[in-house]
Amino acid sequence: MLIRELSEPVSNLTGVGKAAIRSYSSLGVYSFSDLLALSPRGYENRSKIIPIGHQDETGLVNTFIAVKGSSFFGAKHILKVIVTDVSTPDYERNLSLLCFNRNFLKDVLKPGRKFYLYATIGQSFGELQSSQFEVIPFCESKPPEQFGRILPIYPLSGTLGQKAIRRDVKNILARVRHFDDEIPQFLMEKYHLLSFDSAIRQIHNPDSLEMVSKARRTLAFSEFFYQQIATRRDSSSPGRRGKLEESEVEKRFVASLPFKLTSDQKKALDEIRQDMASPSSMNRLLQGDVGSGKTLVAWISALHAIDDGGQVAFMAPTELLARQHAENAARLLEPLGIRVSFLTGSVGTKQREPLLSALAAGEIDILIGTHALFSKSVIFSDLRFVIIDEQHRFGVQQRLALMSKGHTPDVLLMTATPIPRTLALTVFGDLNVSTIKTMPPGRIPVITHLVSDKRRNDMYQAIQVEFNRGHQAYFVYPRIDENPDNAIRDVTTMHEYLKGIYPGVTSALIHSRLDEETKVNILRDFANRKISYLVSTSVVEVGIDVADATCMVIEHAELFGLAALHQLRGRVGRSSLQSWCFLVFSDDLSEDAKLRLKTMKNTNDGFEIAEKDLIIRGPGEIAGKKQSGFLNLRYGDLTKDLAMIETARSEVEKILKADPGLLLADHAIIKNVLSLDSSHQGFSMQN
Ligand code: ADP
Ligand code: MG
Repeated sequence: MLIRELSEPVSNLTGVGKAAIRSYSSLGVYSFSDLLALSPRGYENRSKIIPIGHQDETGLVNTFIAVKGSSFFGAKHILKVIVTDVSTPDYERNLSLLCFNRNFLKDVLKPGRKFYLYATIGQSFGELQSSQFEVIPFCESKPPEQFGRILPIYPLSGTLGQKAIRRDVKNILARVRHFDDEIPQFLMEKYHLLSFDSAIRQIHNPDSLEMVSKARRTLAFSEFFYQQIATRRDSSSPGRRGKLEESEVEKRFVASLPFKLTSDQKKALDEIRQDMASPSSMNRLLQGDVGSGKTLVAWISALHAIDDGGQVAFMAPTELLARQHAENAARLLEPLGIRVSFLTGSVGTKQREPLLSALAAGEIDILIGTHALFSKSVIFSDLRFVIIDEQHRFGVQQRLALMSKGHTPDVLLMTATPIPRTLALTVFGDLNVSTIKTMPPGRIPVITHLVSDKRRNDMYQAIQVEFNRGHQAYFVYPRIDENPDNAIRDVTTMHEYLKGIYPGVTSALIHSRLDEETKVNILRDFANRKISYLVSTSVVEVGIDVADATCMVIEHAELFGLAALHQLRGRVGRSSLQSWCFLVFSDDLSEDAKLRLKTMKNTNDGFEIAEKDLIIRGPGEIAGKKQSGFLNLRYGDLTKDLAMIETARSEVEKILKADPGLLLADHAIIKNVLSLDSSHQGFSMQN
């Protein structure tokens, strides 16, 4: 079968409970195929024995040990276990395992027992020590599964650990007898690709690092190949001719705004109307920095399409953002008689059913929502215009899925993470681009300070001054809970701490584990200034729009990627007030992290930041973040694979030129994959 045919939800796997489902969903994983598409961000090579004493400069060991004895030390009674290397007879080298918060290991690591050990070790207090280690009981007859292999390291989220993801992936792979190839045979041969069956198995369970790179090449080629096919088909499909001139309702709406449209907004609208009036369907990217007024352009073009008699779908990447858009649309558009509706995975069946039948009957003009929009049950009466916010968060399949709900609808993609022009042309082919460069008038650039950990008190004082003026602040941390293994600050602990710094100032904690209703209420209170500051994870990253918020504090800024930092900073500076962004960093920054922070300090220009990001970003550098990049690529890497993109592009061109209808037997597989994409896509609904 094809990978994308595995549409079963991950909840069908044994051992996957509610918490895991939730964590998977924040990685964009809902179905089996999504999980197989979760590409490892690296590998641990446990195939070679590295005895204690032979560790490399990173301190890695991979060996067999026997326990000699244990003791407790320090006021906190930390368990310390002395072990010795037994990978070769007569080899004697001791190591102390420091078991912070793992005192239960006393009953496991008993003297005389043998274990397999994978650890990072270092020299301190005159002995070799390790506090980061994994032990697996040694068994003569049945070697431990994680040993002697190369193990994938997956991006993590929430409660999910490596072990759980590895187990789940393994379970899926065991269920499927054979994965079919997705690329025509002649191309597989020409470019020496692996069969898809071995590519997908090698990515998750490799025999060697060489096989990993072959597998990656194969899957990346397929990704670029279908990206190119999708682009071609987008632009070659004939559309219907819409009206060119502004409608009455648009004019009325624009006139009712308390401000004038910027010239770039007007230009973008002109371009969109021209696309709508042209005989082929629109395929346009609207790029502009956060807060430049893209969403407003989207509403006005939606009015244009609706006035012409069509329906509009507006898709946003998170529930929070979708809700905010829906509330705005209701406030702005309903007074004009536009029927606005909202659908996400959390809309219950009771409300869902009447909504869906109204949609199918054409009684809803614009449907706003998340991934839920492309589930099977969502049927439009006449979908003519698809708007995708934060397009880089969606894959090409998802875009195609939503488009397939209409008859060659016009498509407007929006992004605040601009794509460098050369890249846009290479990857998107004939995609048209509208750019909003000018910010709405009266905006003052945000001032960015880099704050070393020691100088945080000065920052707290500066923010107090803003509170005194009635302004608001965001404090962003990378984690929800405390993790005793490291010193990364978390929202829960820091919220308590900040209450001590700002007694009497109202605040709230917000993160992804709160239910949607609570999140929405907190944000509403923040917008209404009932709350002065939010302590948050990066859930506030996209779209939140509160004019009086003037301070953005990002702690452990070194752990965030440039795109995320820029998005977060975009939450302030949304009015004519001066705003500040404080990037708090820890010592010993990597070179890349230094470069990222410097870039943030030196420029507010999203385009410049995007170009820098592309240069700096090495694969796997952005810890824990989805490897989405500009296009939500899973295997392909824009910084390394430009030649491969060119190849895929020219092959696609050749194929479509010779056989536009994909009727030849050689091309049957392409047709097959595409038909799957538009029928169920393997992306299941969020519940
Ligand atoms: P984006 O989607 O690009 O991040 P939005 O459309 O959300 O930006 O606009 C950000 C804020 O600026 C909103 O509050 C919006 O009402 C306001 N805005 C949009 N266009 C203008 C304009 N021409 N003049 C003044 N304010 C504007
Ligand atoms: Mg936006």
